[in-house]
Order: sequence, then structure tokens, then C-alpha cells
Amino acid sequence: MKASEVASRLQLSFRTEREYDELRSALIREQDHREHGAFIFASQSDDLRLDVVEVAVLSGDDFSKQSMGFLELREGALQDVIMRAHRSNTALVEAHSHPFTEGPDVRFSQFDCRGLKATGPQISWRLPGRPYMALVFGRNAFDSLFWAKRKRRPKGVVDIRAGSTLLNASGQSYLAWEE
Ligand SMILES: [Zn+2]
Repeated sequence: MKASEVASRLQLSFRTEREYDELRSALIREQDHREHGAFIFASQSDDLRLDVVEVAVLSGDDFSKQSMGFLELREGALQDVIMRAHRSNTALVEAHSHPFTEGPDVRFSQFDCRGLKATGPQISWRLPGRPYMALVFGRNAFDSLFWAKRKRRPKGVVDIRAGSTLLNASGQSYLAWEE
């Protein structure tokens, strides 16, 4: 099934623009074309909105490989954050960057999608009652997907609220999603 279905839209809310800028500048660094990653823990304030509680930027130790266009978590790193979300009763968000992508056309790579096909439904299963969200940042835009209720297919996209500013995901990955 191709996703001509209308995407559900969640909103991930950062308390201040500054908090959001800090995440962005950790993921997209000047003079650094490597990808970077972070996990975000968010509490659900209603069905459509989640508030960022904590941002954990990943360091070199969390990766088995970190290079341009290729990021791979070390074994156990995902397990650790799932446990942390479980204990703090928060929803989990993974975020990484494509520093080589400029302009509005940002989306998950084929490599990303292969990984997400496994981890999206799996984490939705491990953390029941809350969505699992994934974000990818280019230099000027971002895209996102989320999984819910243990379904295999992503349910929609995640927009970001930074203080009073609402930023929309490109939505391209959802439209192009194929099982
Ligand atoms: Zn990627």
C-alpha cells in the first residue's frame, strides 16, 4: 500500500526557541560534515502534542561508526534509551542529521528507512501507549515519521513547535513510504 492516506500530524513542542536551536546546532555543526544524532524524551500532554523533557545528544562512544552519510549505533545504545523512556514514562524520539542536505527537500535515506522499518514498530511495541518518533534534519528543513499502536506502517509525521514558532516537517518520507 502506498501512502496516499492523509498523514496524522503530531506536534513535538520545545519550551523555547533556544532549546530547539541547541538541538539543531548539536546535530548540524559548522565545518563538520559528519552526521550527528540525539535521543529526545517527551511527555504526552494530549493525543496530538508532546512536550520535550530532555535531549540527550549522542557522543562518539555511542556509535560503532560515524562518518559522512552513515551513522550506526553501538549495540546496547538503543536498549539503554528504551529503558530510560520506560522508567520515566516518556515517549522516545530519535533524531539525526544530513548535513549534506540543503534546501527544503529533506527526507530519510533508503538506509534510514530500512532501519526504521525494523525499529519503528519494534519500539512502538516496547513502549506501549506512546508514539515512537524519528526526525531527520537537513541544513534548512527537517522531515519526520512516527509509529503508534504497534502498527508496521508509520502513522504520520511530526511537526515541531519551538517556543511560539510552528515548523512543519517536509512530509516527503511519509509520502514515499513503501512496505
Ligand atoms: Zn540519515
